[in-house]
Formats: sequence, structure tokens, C-alpha cells
Amino acid sequence: MKILVAVKRVIDYNVKVRVKADHSDVDLTNVKMAINPFCEIAVEEAVRLKEKGVATEIVVVSLGTKECQEQIRTALALGADRGIQVETDENPGSLSVAKLLKAIVDEEKPDLVILGKQSIDSDNNQTGQMLAALSGLPQGTFASEVTIEDGKASVTREVDGGLQTVSLSLPAIVTTDLRLNEPRYASLPNIMKAKRKPLDVKTPADLGVEVTSSLNTLKVEPPAERSAGIRVGSVDELIEKLKTEAKVI
Ligand code: AMP
Repeated sequence: MKILVAVKRVIDYNVKVRVKADHSDVDLTNVKMAINPFCEIAVEEAVRLKEKGVATEIVVVSLGTKECQEQIRTALALGADRGIQVETDENPGSLSVAKLLKAIVDEEKPDLVILGKQSIDSDNNQTGQMLAALSGLPQGTFASEVTIEDGKASVTREVDGGLQTVSLSLPAIVTTDLRLNEPRYASLPNIMKAKRKPLDVKTPADLGVEVTSSLNTLKVEPPAERSAGIRVGSVDELIEKLKTEAKVI
């Protein structure tokens, strides 16, 4: 069984994001970048399926500038077998990403495609769904458990108000939620080994896809600063302030 995992390069989740002085975008100068956390969970799930003997090959794909090869190498160090970078600009937009991933799915013919449920930079939560629609494959989004049996994927989904389990015939698309697993760290020997694993570079033209963006960012602003809290001397004072200042009771 072949698994394709899509990983996105994003700002490391520990970094305090800064906005460019002209408010045109987030400032990425000298900022630590990493694999999107939900994509790390996707890689981990694929590696676990390989360790269980369910999967035989894991292919990792990332779309972006040459720098996203760093995140592909990290995924290779975590246990993926080979990588594909599709060279695009920094932010190709979800529909173009989904079209490019569909072209890769058509070429690679994986049995399972695992994506993150959302990118922590753009918070779109739509690429997996778009890919499923474009390729006509069944989808199990927000997965907190995945089991493969008899050519089917059983996916437990985290939905509002509880859990829903769906059975998908393979090939299928799964997007990962936070509780699916806890990703491992790459060991130094595996980081070294990953440097020798194959990594192909393709262009959108190779895949017959035209990258267009239907989204134009008008302005980026940081969230409003929160004002500092205060200490109150007694419960009575607290109630008084909630009534007269915060006006919430
Ligand atoms: P989004 O719809 O942007 O929130 O992203 C959901 C998932 O789609 C991510 O977790 C990735 O698995 C995949 N994805 C989005 N953008 C890219 C990209 N540039 N390269 C590879 N995978 C991506």
C-alpha cells in the first residue's frame, strides 16, 4: 500500500508572528520555519502504518519555493521514503495546491492520501476537501483514529458534539486532527540518512497545471493588544467591578 502525505512549510508554531511595516503580509525575515503541525501528524500516521506492515511506501509532497525541501527532508528523516517538491511561489492558494496534488495523485496512484486538517498560517481547512472533490475520492476529515482493513479505511472523525466513524473504500483522502497521534522527533542518524533519500523536483507545467490565485490579500494586521489584568481585594470588589466596569452581570 502506497501513502502520499502532503506537508506544508509554515512559520514554526513557537514563533511570535510579526507583521511587515507596510501591512502587506506577515514578516518571514529570519523566522524559523517548520512542517505544519497537522502535516507532522499526517507523516507520523503514515510511518506508523508502515511500521505495522500495512503500508509499504510513503511519498511526501510539498508545494512551494526551494526552501520547502527542508520540510520534505524532515519528513524523510521521520520515516518517509521519497519526496517530491513542486516548485511554486510562496503561497500558491488552496485551489491551485489541490489541483497540483490531484496531478501528483494521478501520477503516483497512492492508496491513501493524508493531509493536515489545516495549515496554521492560513487556517484555510479546505485543501483536503478540494482534493477529494477534484479527484472524486472519498474523504475522512478531522481524523482522530485511522485503521485499514480489507481494502477500506475506517476513520473516526472529530465532529461537533462527538465522534463519527466512516468507512471509506481505498483509495481515499484523510485529513488529520490533533488527537490522531503524537509525532516523534527525528533522530540524528535518521536526519543523516534522509539526505540520501530521493527527492524529485517538478514544476506545475510538468503536471499540466496552471497556478492562478483567486485570492488577493488586502491588508494584514496583528491582533489587538490585550490590556493588562488587575487584582481585586475581595469578592465584593470583584462583583462591583463586574457590574459597573465590565458590565457583564
Ligand atoms: P489548508 O487547506 O491550507 O488549511 O491546508 C490543509 C492541508 O493541505 C495541509 O495541512 C497540508 O497537508 C496540505 N497543504 C496545503 N498547502 C500545501 C502546500 N503548499 N504543500 C503541501 N501541502 C499543502
